[in-house]
Parts: sequence; C-alpha cells; structure tokens
Amino acid sequence: MRSKRAEFSPETKIACFKRDKGKCRICTKPIVTAARYYHFPVPAELDRLADLDNCRLLCIVCYDKQMQHLPWRKRFDGTVERR
Ligand SMILES: [Zn+2]
Repeated sequence: MRSKRAEFSPETKIACFKRDKGKCRICTKPIVTAARYYHFPVPAELDRLADLDNCRLLCIVCYDKQMQHLPWRKRFDGTVERR
C-alpha cells in the first residue's frame, strides 16, 4: 500500500529559508539556484512529519551527500525504499 507523501508546505519552506538565512546548513554556501529542503533524518515511516523542525535548507551538493548516507532513499516518484 502506498501512503501519501508528506510535502513541506510553501509556508514551511519560506520559514525554513528565512530561519537558515538562505544558506546551506552544512557548507553555509548561499543558496542561489533551486533550494533543497531536506527532511531531517527520520525513519521513512515518520516521513509525514513535514514541519519546520524537520526542515533543513541545503544546497544540492550537500543534499545529495546526505541522501547517500541515509539507510533509506527516496525515489523520484516519492516512494521510499530501504537500502
Ligand atoms: Zn551545502
């Protein structure tokens, strides 16, 4: 069965961007192109917690690195699989 994927709301993304001052939380580079909003590591089952506490502003490079370190990964269609 497929559960609905939680998305950060536009309001949460804006709040996250402001809170993190438009900079990547890891390398502190200013985000100039498309920002990535990263779900702070939570088990896939808790992925519905798309609130500001779980939101980190990351650049694309750091986002990709983070994703590689997770024990699970998201497919492009939003479903989650364990490694
Ligand atoms: Zn970065």
